[in-house]
Amino acid sequence: MRQQTIRRSVAVEGVGLHSGKPVKVTLSPAPADSGIVFRAGAHGEPIPASPDSVVDSHYATTLGRNGTRIQTVEHLMAAAAGLGIDNLEVVVDGCEVPAMDGSAKPFVAVLTAAGRTTQGARRRPVAIRQSLRAGDGNRWIQILPAPEFRISYTLDNDHPAIGTQALSCVPTEDSFVEDYAPARTYGFLKDLGAMRKHGLALGGSLENAIVVGKRGTLNGLRYRDEFVRHKVLDLIGDLALLGRPIQGHVIARNAGHALNFELVVAIQRALGLERRPAGAALRVAATRDAVDGFAPATA
Ligand SMILES: [Zn+2]
Repeated sequence: MRQQTIRRSVAVEGVGLHSGKPVKVTLSPAPADSGIVFRAGAHGEPIPASPDSVVDSHYATTLGRNGTRIQTVEHLMAAAAGLGIDNLEVVVDGCEVPAMDGSAKPFVAVLTAAGRTTQGARRRPVAIRQSLRAGDGNRWIQILPAPEFRISYTLDNDHPAIGTQALSCVPTEDSFVEDYAPARTYGFLKDLGAMRKHGLALGGSLENAIVVGKRGTLNGLRYRDEFVRHKVLDLIGDLALLGRPIQGHVIARNAGHALNFELVVAIQRALGLERRPAGAALRVAATRDAVDGFAPATA
């Protein structure tokens, strides 16, 4: 499979979920092997969408470099990954990718409208060779060697409007567009006050999130299990930070951006170690396990 980019520049405008400010995003074609690169303004410093650029992974995934930050990149990243777009320039006229309707659907629409072109360079999928795991108790994420990219996700929440939702899928471009891209982010009405005090969800409304109140959701659902579908969408977006498609089975339970990112770092580290001589790899692995609490899982 060869790499792809879009055919022409396109733009979307909306409001940042956390900042509440209006923002415009311009998406443009990018050369093979450049990956997805963000800029804050047309003359901003390039911020590659890579694990090294992640400066915060609570509530949303934030990229940054030398003091410039771009918040909430995950739904746009998911749209690009779901459509198989490898290379893209993203100019954000502000500090946050707009929330749009809380899903990846508007980004899928604009990227589709831009058309696609196949590039000369080949894709280099990441084949997972060992089991890697992050988290514990009721919140964890794991990846296992597998012949294809599969996600199995279980979400359980005390709130009766959510309950336990589980699904297992092999995302294809069609299933991504139909079954995952339209699933919206969600928030609890009771948390809104505290989030706003911390400068988060300032742009949150019934227009861009499922809002869960005491007795149920305040707006209608697009899917009966929209919550877990959105979790899968977020995971696809966060895994896209690796810049290469993954061949492996991701199994997650109640994971969020922070755990998704821990898994991304573990995969990146495992890849780096694979390329080193065996003895050196073992020594580095032992040291890093002690520091970060990562170890190949025994499952
Ligand atoms: Zn999300």
